[in-house]
Amino acid sequence: MTYLIAGESGDWEVVIGLEVHAQIVSAAKLFSGAATGFGAPPNAQVSLVDAAMPGMLPVINEHCVTQAVRTGLGLNAAINLTSVFERKNYFYADLPAGYQISQYAQPVVGEGSVILDLADGSTPTIGIERLHMEMDAGKSLHDQDPRRTFIDLNRSGVALMEIVSKPDMRSPEEAGAYLRKLRSILRYLGTCDGNMEEGSMRCDVNVSVRHPGEDLRTRTEIKNVNSVRFAMQAIEYEANRQVEAYETGGDVVQETRLFDAQKGETRPMRSKEYAHDYRYFPDPDLLPLVLSQDYVDAIQANLPELPDQRKDRYMAADGLSAYDAGVLVAEKETAEFFERVAKGRDAKTAANWVTGALFGTLNRLDLAITESPVTADSLGQLLDLIADDTISGRIAKDVFEAMVETGKNPAAIVEEKGLRQITDTGAIEAAVDEAIAAGPEQAAQFRAGNEKVIGWFVGQVMKATQGKANPQAVNKLLRRKLETEDQP
Ligand code: MN
Repeated sequence: MTYLIAGESGDWEVVIGLEVHAQIVSAAKLFSGAATGFGAPPNAQVSLVDAAMPGMLPVINEHCVTQAVRTGLGLNAAINLTSVFERKNYFYADLPAGYQISQYAQPVVGEGSVILDLADGSTPTIGIERLHMEMDAGKSLHDQDPRRTFIDLNRSGVALMEIVSKPDMRSPEEAGAYLRKLRSILRYLGTCDGNMEEGSMRCDVNVSVRHPGEDLRTRTEIKNVNSVRFAMQAIEYEANRQVEAYETGGDVVQETRLFDAQKGETRPMRSKEYAHDYRYFPDPDLLPLVLSQDYVDAIQANLPELPDQRKDRYMAADGLSAYDAGVLVAEKETAEFFERVAKGRDAKTAANWVTGALFGTLNRLDLAITESPVTADSLGQLLDLIADDTISGRIAKDVFEAMVETGKNPAAIVEEKGLRQITDTGAIEAAVDEAIAAGPEQAAQFRAGNEKVIGWFVGQVMKATQGKANPQAVNKLLRRKLETEDQP
């Protein structure tokens, strides 16, 4: 699926690379023991190290290192057994040390890859350039007082992973799919909670445009986008802005821009700095981080099943389509729900009910799967009632609706409403005889070879039995009677 922007000088292609800052799931910060919980009162989670008091020394949090390595392995990436923490020098009021401890020339994780699942069923691979660990800065609060800015250092020193993709994406849709897939992998791994609205995953978007086949042109960077939808909107806007600039004889300058979600546009923030502006140098307070291969192997051995593997399993072992499998594994909670429904039952039927009736209901009520009014167990019971012929698939749809409304279990609803399927051949036979008697013309057509007309008879019988007759039994009886009964 190609995304091109038409211009006077020909079509333009968009080139996108993403840098994602993902907060590491860890009770303590990267270089101190201070807590990291979201929503604490300002400056309640600040150690002397985080406040950069003179003489304080950082001490690496081993759990954060494990989380970063685990993430690297989950991204099929090379792990660098030796990596180095460096100081990245800034002056910001909310960065008391005057530098951020980050990794630069030697990051802990090297090249890897992420496979996207696009709506058209294609699965392009996006390269990962690197993943490094770094500390977060504090936060300046400009909206608390008309004249003064306050500083909250709770985030100062919180452990981040900066995950840098290669410039492999070519459309807003691919960028959106990349962010969703990356978030899904991080959540499966348990290394980042992926809550963009709480700021635990933020994204810097690099965008340039070119005529297909050209070398890369100047890119701009849109900072700190905090939702998938905004990232896609920002790319769309920014790509069109750059095309417009080139087509009207202007140029694109390398700069950092901000996305204004209300106006749906980007605007300049500052001219782009280069790496050498930061005067990176190895932090003399920290030794190089040296990992043993055994340590990495132990983490690899404990990786959970990730979305791609789970998708393969659903396709190979359960016979699901690539699309259904992709939809079911995208969120870990959805996959777990599906597996509870499918356990000991037909997986395809379970997948149809989860992606069909259940997803439809959740969308309509704007609920997450964890808030589903129908539990996995009761949906499973509904499938059992279909499988043992207590109800037909058609009646099951009504039962499902009643489950959503009342929260009752399906067996109770079937009994209460008298929906039990009629499998008693005697009762069905009476309705079949009536239908045949009522339709001599249709019977003649059937006998003349018009197979489709059987549907009319089935409809009559279903109407007479309020939809409760077993459809297989009805079909069988109708055929036998129509084929064998004497011609008029
Ligand atoms: Mn960074």
